[in-house]
Amino acid sequence: MIIAHKIALKLNVQQRIYCARGAGTARFAWNWALHEWKQSYEAGEKVSEAGLRKRLNAIKREQFPWMFEVTKVAPQQAIKNLGTAFTRFFTGKSQYPQPKRKGQHDSFRADNGPGTFAVVGRRLKLPVVGVIKMREELRFSGKPISVTISREADRWFAAIAVEVAMDIAMEVEHTTQTSENQAVCGVDLGISRLATISDGTIYQATHALRREIRKLRRGSRRLSRKQKGSKNRDKAKHRLAKLHARIVHVRRDSLHKLTTDLTRRFATVVIEDLNVKGMMANRKLARAIADVGMYEFRRQLSYKAEMRGVRVVVADRFFPSSQLCSTPGCEGRAVGLGLAVRSWTCNFCNATHDRDLNAAKNLERYSTVSSTGINACGAGSSVAPGQLGRRSPALKQESNVVINDYT
Ligand SMILES: [Zn+2]
Repeated sequence: MIIAHKIALKLNVQQRIYCARGAGTARFAWNWALHEWKQSYEAGEKVSEAGLRKRLNAIKREQFPWMFEVTKVAPQQAIKNLGTAFTRFFTGKSQYPQPKRKGQHDSFRADNGPGTFAVVGRRLKLPVVGVIKMREELRFSGKPISVTISREADRWFAAIAVEVAMDIAMEVEHTTQTSENQAVCGVDLGISRLATISDGTIYQATHALRREIRKLRRGSRRLSRKQKGSKNRDKAKHRLAKLHARIVHVRRDSLHKLTTDLTRRFATVVIEDLNVKGMMANRKLARAIADVGMYEFRRQLSYKAEMRGVRVVVADRFFPSSQLCSTPGCEGRAVGLGLAVRSWTCNFCNATHDRDLNAAKNLERYSTVSSTGINACGAGSSVAPGQLGRRSPALKQESNVVINDYT
């Protein structure tokens, strides 16, 4: 099983330049290959990513000598990724590949294959650039497969993919137990309240996270008042991007605790599709944070579920988990429930529901009661994070290898 651990880097000036160059080279190679692909295709030639990599290698020394300043895998992997993007396009899973722009998902593959790089404690040794310091140690032990370097706002990260044996993976997680029983739970994911579990457990967001979210809310209000195209607006935007990246990381840590708990305590975990309810005044912003959290939540949940033999069921995105009354046997339904409404009373059975707990309970029932439930979405054991989100529901059950999902 392959798991990626993404770790923040401590870079000196030269290393930052190297990373920016690596990302630049990868972006250039992607855009070059995309252009070649289009032209060849229009000329009626058959194109493949392997062919394009050969083509690039043949002209690289002559035309793009600066490419040799970074690892040769950076441009190669970018073209492989383009090949994958085309495959996804041809099978109807995503849009036609687009040119990459600077500053959007900057990333590149930094190793030359297994055995060409090493991870020792908090040090990462890479080809060309040498030793880079990391903020934390690799969480998993096993055979390191690849390193993808990526940028979020002005911080750089290394996603190190490691091949771990199942038993080692369990050991790293400090547990050898599988989930205790056959219990089913539903999970309602929020923002200030991180998660509500159908058995009544509530996971609050940490103080640090709540503080960052408050700052973000303020920051986005400020941004909206700045004049378009002004320097101040750029500055505010940059600050906001940094804050956003920080929130993602603070949140990631609390999500680890949550996903470990869930996969230890339950045999089946029912979650919502990416349809997350906004919980802050600025709904667009709330949505962005919630989506990122949801994505990370599923990434963690899927690999931990696989380790422990836990089944993950994804409810249909149109399943009205917030609106149905969760009292067993009651057919009540809340109509026009505003986002700010935290609790409501059912007109039929008079039960008063906490909004989130009610949703979690409905999700739990989804796996047993709903006739469309398991057959429609839940047969798989886990969810692949790369395939989640705005795609069709049919994609929810692919295997959960987490390589290169930062590219
Ligand atoms: Zn009711």
